[in-house]
Amino acid sequence: MSAKGELYLVGFGPGSHDHLTFRAKQAIEQANVVVGYRTYIDLVRDLLEGKEVISTGMTEEIDRARSAVERAGQGDRVALVSSGDVGIYGMAGLVFELLSAMKWTPGESDFSVEVIPGITALSAVSSLVGASLTHDFVAISLSDLLTPWPIIEKRLNAAGQGDFVVALYNPQSKRRDWQLGKAQEILLTYKKPETPVAVVKSAYREGERIVLTTLDKMAEAEIGMLTTILIGNESTFRYLDFLITPRGYSGKYNLDSGEIIHKGIDRPGLSLNRPADFEPLK
Ligand code: SAH
Repeated sequence: MSAKGELYLVGFGPGSHDHLTFRAKQAIEQANVVVGYRTYIDLVRDLLEGKEVISTGMTEEIDRARSAVERAGQGDRVALVSSGDVGIYGMAGLVFELLSAMKWTPGESDFSVEVIPGITALSAVSSLVGASLTHDFVAISLSDLLTPWPIIEKRLNAAGQGDFVVALYNPQSKRRDWQLGKAQEILLTYKKPETPVAVVKSAYREGERIVLTTLDKMAEAEIGMLTTILIGNESTFRYLDFLITPRGYSGKYNLDSGEIIHKGIDRPGLSLNRPADFEPLK
């Protein structure tokens, strides 16, 4: 091939085609080579007819990234597919490390690169349980395959200290069986045992399973490689099968009348911490 190559880094969302973006679908359709982890390839199989498919197992990420870059360099239109968002615990980082090492430059190099965002697991999972991420949140991966455990612990402590809603990616696998218990122990030093928790497996995929529980009991749920866990903040509450994290409206307004009830504030648009005697600078 002599045409300029194209490399699409595609996040295809949680799994169902209803949650695949238009651009992601279009990029997969435009590609003549599709590269991805076997399980991911299976999730978009029906879009791959007539295309060359390069699929490898989990630990061959470097090979996949290299082949994608190489094939784009040879003039192919390559889609490297990843579940959720390709830039969130996904392959985009590794590909850009390779691109920077080879001094790839947009416009000058012999292939273009486009990153196509997708719905990440925390967003998919949160949508299934209502509105758990309506306030500040953090994502922490419990996988210590590439990140040393002391760093993960440090981040869990910081998340607990900051009273963030916490989304745990990669919470547990057959081989990584103690990390979740340890994470639970750390978060319990900051958060109440009854803090609402959602354990969601295979969101928007076959085998979807949602368990609503509490922080002290969360490890009793069935948790594996396809699970994301959402842990509430101090004000997260459960209503029916929903987890709700208030944005703060009810602390400032009467939700029935819309009237401002916060002391010291007389009109919308003012910060809660503005002192009653505040005078704007002239
Ligand atoms: N790039 C992906 C994350 C890859 S890391 C994204 O943006 O979603 C793999 C982890 O993602 C899994 O261990 C799990 O915690 C989470 N995950 C991915 N797809 C999921 C789904 N459909 N349901 C629940 N969790 C999912």
